[in-house]
Amino acid sequence: MFLTELVCGLCGETHAKSQLQTVCQSCGRPLLATYDLSSVSTALKKEQLATRGPSLWRYREILPLPLDAEPVTLSEGWTPLLPADRLAPNLRYVWIKDESRNPTATFKARGMSVAVSMTKQFGVKAVAVPSAGNAAGALAAYAARAGIEAHLFMPKDTPIANIVECSAMGARVTLVDGLITDCAREVARRTKTEGWFDLSTLKEPYRLEGKKTLGYELAEQLNWELPDVVLYPTGGGTGLIGMWKAFDEMEQMGWISSKRPRLVSVQAAGCCPIVTAFEKGLRFADEHLNASTKASGLRVPKAIGDFLILDAIRASRGIALSVSDEEMIEAAKEVGAAEGLFVAPEGAACCAALKRLSRSGWVKPDEKIVVFNTGAGLKYLECFAQIGQGTQADGSPD
Ligand SMILES: *Cc1c(COP(=O)(O)O)cnc(C)c1O
Ligand SMILES: [Zn+2]
Repeated sequence: MFLTELVCGLCGETHAKSQLQTVCQSCGRPLLATYDLSSVSTALKKEQLATRGPSLWRYREILPLPLDAEPVTLSEGWTPLLPADRLAPNLRYVWIKDESRNPTATFKARGMSVAVSMTKQFGVKAVAVPSAGNAAGALAAYAARAGIEAHLFMPKDTPIANIVECSAMGARVTLVDGLITDCAREVARRTKTEGWFDLSTLKEPYRLEGKKTLGYELAEQLNWELPDVVLYPTGGGTGLIGMWKAFDEMEQMGWISSKRPRLVSVQAAGCCPIVTAFEKGLRFADEHLNASTKASGLRVPKAIGDFLILDAIRASRGIALSVSDEEMIEAAKEVGAAEGLFVAPEGAACCAALKRLSRSGWVKPDEKIVVFNTGAGLKYLECFAQIGQGTQADGSPD
């Protein structure tokens, strides 16, 4: 195993990998896993990857699970990078990284596969998360697969698909009259009394390791040259922080050059703490009060990794912008009709943002652009109901 230790992303304090860690013991911020990358680059050549199986576990050496342990897997990751020529006809090179193909139909599967593998390795018997929906669905699946008890806390207005999938996979579901921050408070209280392990976003180090494989896949699928621009729908920010970490790791191993994409962090107008902090020039984001959006994955009023998101956006010379729910639904219809993909509102938000950035000239016609569709539209039927009426046939029966 090449994992060396866990380092606080803010104050740099190191923590041992020999026990299951949560957040930094000094400052309470997220811990990042570090690896002996020079040994990885000796043990693994990037050309060898082509012979490996189609899941994120192809990057086994740069993941935290000991090499002799069996991962808890449902074949997550290695999703297609689809050319999207009709989405923005004035842009020549656009791809959609279609994360809806993951188990439980969102990219939350990546983080949960790795984090549940690690908790199982440490002998944990019960886990819990507060969730806007998709993290709960993914945890229900991987906990079931691992034979671990899952306790899931979701707001009452979570999309019904999430509540149904969690129950169908044997998880204990609690619906909370409030926001995800209220769910988080409840999980924090109950984990103490019940001895559950809290798998909240960035409150343990290994979901991030699963999400960072987005960055490895982008590089491998684009033949080890990163695109110019990446659009990412940002809630807690694990995918964005993870990709940025993956780019550094790959450069240190000599797999890619120092070229980086400009990161575009897309949020919902009704919940955009990162956009607000970005525009004000702040490194830490204030809580977005009265957060509200149908894109449940983006309903994160306060992110514990805010400074990591904002640092990465700025270091990449990127940008943060918000999109209204109406724009998301409209964009989902457009990308559906243009590309044959029924995307989640979060993915649609990125498509809407791309149009705006193209119109303003921030994105140039010859640039290589990757848009993340982080989930399946099918998990959000309530959201799309208003456009699902169709046209009444008025002809006589066949
Ligand atoms: C959770 C989620 C997001 C946001 O991901 P973060 O890593 O929390 O930023 C985006 N889209 C979907 C569909 C999600 O479930
Ligand atoms: Zn710290």
